Amino acid sequence: MRLGKISGRNYLIDHVVGYRGLDITFIDRIGKLYAAIDSMYEAAARHYHFDCNDCNASCCQTRFYHYTHAEYMYLKLGFDTLEDSKKDYIKGLAAKYEDHYKHNPEDSRMMCPLNEDSLCILYKWRPMICRLHGLPFETQDINMVATFYDGCEMFMQRKNKEGYVYMTINRTIYYREMARLEKDLRQVYNLGTSNKDTVAGMILRF
Ligand code: SF4
Repeated sequence: MRLGKISGRNYLIDHVVGYRGLDITFIDRIGKLYAAIDSMYEAAARHYHFDCNDCNASCCQTRFYHYTHAEYMYLKLGFDTLEDSKKDYIKGLAAKYEDHYKHNPEDSRMMCPLNEDSLCILYKWRPMICRLHGLPFETQDINMVATFYDGCEMFMQRKNKEGYVYMTINRTIYYREMARLEKDLRQVYNLGTSNKDTVAGMILRF
């Protein structure tokens, strides 16, 4: 989940300025938010000496939902960089994914259509939860009261063996910035309020 096939080329600066329907200001804001999350995650992973190697329980098989137009639009920017044949192939996988869950709602382990050979095809454009999942974290309510959450299954197994000391990951700051961004985006583009979808569902709407 943390690895990707996208080259280091910066599409946001080189290619996407003036992209139809999405102002560069929003692209820049989403990019900065994601960069902040990635940098926090890398620092925390270094602190724990934790990586996703040797994990068989790919979190890309977890049925995550994504709620914002911002994540949808950013993922679409990445999707639009793919060859048409690749897009069609991925759309086929996305259709199978959604069909499978329609008939097997209890089954929670099906691979995301963007995962290829354990790598994310749209790593650079992946949604927020794909960037945050794995390490233990906290959220804070408006009175700054914190609630703590475990890391993923593999993290907790290693923690018990290696006696990790918790490093603060406060997701609230990222959630709040995403909420602000989303609010502004909805206002500027007159968008509806709910956009709940899986990655597969988003791909089918591209
Ligand atoms: S978008 Fe799909 S393949 Fe990419 S990191 Fe998220 S779950 Fe994994």
